[in-house]
Amino acid sequence: MPLARSVRRYIQKRQPRLPFQGRQGCRFQMKRPPSVQPWHFHECILPDAQCLNQIPHFYYSVHTHFIGALYNTIMEKRTIAILGATGSIGTQALDIVSRYPDRFHAVCLTAHASSEKLFDLVRKYRPTCAALNIAPERIPEDVQFCEWFFGPDSTVQALLASRAQDALCAIVGIAGLDAVWAALDVCERVLLANKEALVTGGDLVMKKAADRRIPMLPVDSEHSAIFQCLQARQNNAVRRLLLTASGGALRTWRKADMFNATVRDVLKHPTWNMGGKITVDCASMVNKGLEIIEAHHLFDMPAEKIDVVVHPQSVIHSMIEFADGAVLAQMGMPDMRGPIGYAMGWPERLPYDAKPVNFYELGHLDFAAPDFDRFPALKMAIEALKAGGSAPVILNGANEAAVGAFLRERIPFGRIPEIIGHALEAVPQTAIASIRDVYAADAAARADAENTIRRLTC
Ligand code: NAD
Ligand code: MG
Repeated sequence: MPLARSVRRYIQKRQPRLPFQGRQGCRFQMKRPPSVQPWHFHECILPDAQCLNQIPHFYYSVHTHFIGALYNTIMEKRTIAILGATGSIGTQALDIVSRYPDRFHAVCLTAHASSEKLFDLVRKYRPTCAALNIAPERIPEDVQFCEWFFGPDSTVQALLASRAQDALCAIVGIAGLDAVWAALDVCERVLLANKEALVTGGDLVMKKAADRRIPMLPVDSEHSAIFQCLQARQNNAVRRLLLTASGGALRTWRKADMFNATVRDVLKHPTWNMGGKITVDCASMVNKGLEIIEAHHLFDMPAEKIDVVVHPQSVIHSMIEFADGAVLAQMGMPDMRGPIGYAMGWPERLPYDAKPVNFYELGHLDFAAPDFDRFPALKMAIEALKAGGSAPVILNGANEAAVGAFLRERIPFGRIPEIIGHALEAVPQTAIASIRDVYAADAAARADAENTIRRLTC
């Protein structure tokens, strides 16, 4: 259809580019338009957006419906795989899909073991592929319309079969690394929540993304904030990144009391509602350490140029200090649908009913330096990043083992940094040249952590 062709060509010409990402500040160009909305057509007809206000309502609504219908017939929806669909990030991403049914189709939904929850999501979002690591006893008849995959490789198999344009990687832990790696082979964009994939395989993953020119859009709120601020950098060099940290559930606790904090205490995050593992990581501030490593890879920044600012209200999501002394911050009430939606809709913003920031009610915003004495694992993460090689993998593997043991109430909270510290000392640090090296270092770290846990629990 010639009209369709010329409309596509028009959109492709106007297609935006990622402003800054990857090594050597390289620019990525999207292979296809990232998202196309009816208002692209408005702009083609009406050069100034303000003109819209001057059009009589009747004309505007006829115009909108006509353009909307044209858009729907010509442009397909953007297809997205939600890997880790039953989790905190996954379900919030699906909330965005629900709000924009004309823009997104979740074609692939995956989870580890929560089969009933996944069945409900499949009924609602009607993907073409779905996966569970742990096979359920039976698949209900009303979800058999999609292709199912089970077993340890099921996430990657479902992703490949779905042929999704975008992959939202929201699996928790190093378990998500294979999916990120596969997404870089088959998707147009990777929307990254799974920070452990970068902590462990960061150099390899970012190199592959740069080689294949696949945009890695951050979903973690701090990294999304930095990404958003970067779009206003002009030619200003970045002096340092300032990652804000809520301080977690134990921010105000005395060191002696922190040691025996219970699972209940630790899971009471003051500002964010997240999955269990990341909430424990926030309480130990390992999460901020992992985020420093994540920022290092995403924005190609050395550890020395990434600082942590404790900011209990979680209203400023992170900041950049530029060479001219200007500091840009991205703000908003804590709600992960903001950064998730930003990555999904990029380069457009997707409005939703976000709670507005009420500065009168807030009254003040607080800032403090991190306390490395009470949160020693944060220091360990910074040192691991500086050491390079397998050190961040060891830190991550030992932490995952220790957090698992804490959540099962095998060890007190205060043992987590000890277990990480032991693994960093005892496991030989090696270079990482392949994903296989990553898994070898991870296995060695977990084995050491398990030994320490066993010793501590005897
Ligand atoms: P979650 O525990 O709520 O959900 C994890 C999801 O991954 C679930 O769907 C689960 O079924 C799936 N999963 C778990 N283990 C798996 C395995 N071995 N193989 C395949 N799938 C598996 O976790 P979350 O809080 O949504 O966090 C997901 C990721 O996003 C983490 O890396 C976390 O650090 C990051 N993140 C989360 C938030 C947040 O607000 N929750 C914010 C920033 C970053
Ligand atoms: Mg974060």
